[in-house]
Amino acid sequence: MSSYDCDIGIVGVGAAGFAVAAGAAQFDARTVLIEKRHQLGGDCLHFGCVPSTALLRSAAVWAQARRARVSGLPLLMLPLVDLAAVMWIDKGVPERRMAGVRSEWMSFGVAPARGWPSARGSTFL
Ligand SMILES: Cc1cc2nc3c(=O)[nH]c(=O)nc-3n(C[C@H](O)[C@H](O)[C@H](O)COP(=O)(O)OP(=O)(O)OC[C@H]3O[C@@H](n4cnc5c(N)ncnc54)[C@H](O)[C@@H]3O)c2cc1C
Repeated sequence: MSSYDCDIGIVGVGAAGFAVAAGAAQFDARTVLIEKRHQLGGDCLHFGCVPSTALLRSAAVWAQARRARVSGLPLLMLPLVDLAAVMWIDKGVPERRMAGVRSEWMSFGVAPARGWPSARGSTFL
């Protein structure tokens, strides 16, 4: 079992944990972040906003290509969509974002730890 001496303990490294860590860094608070999953970033990065936005972008490119005639371009004969390929590309987006998120953590001076903390009283995690 690990123990940390800090001012703020953040449970979960999702969008909310990230925002709190960014704020805490501005007050020079000694902060520890603890995430139970191997991947940092929470739902937004891995299942929600980021992958769904990437999927929507792929759909928009496809829809635009189908409407080429509207812009005076030749009709494009498009093959069927390989959804597995689209998903594979979209999966890479969170992974690339994660690299950026990691370097931001470093700039906050906060190193996330992996674990499943439990509360012991009001001042101990
Ligand atoms: C399909 C989809 C699309 C979305 N699109 C958008 C969008 O476009 N814009 C937008 O603003 N929002 C969007 N959202 C909502 C957004 O994903 C959530 O609002 C956001 O992820 C919430 O962040 P959070 O940090 O509160 O929680 P989470 O992202 O759930 O992060 C919580 C983290 O805490 C960890 N954790 C939980 N319990 C423990 C524990 N006991 N110990 C250690 N770690 C723990 C979890 O593993 C997780 O990493 C979307 C959601 C979905 C599902």
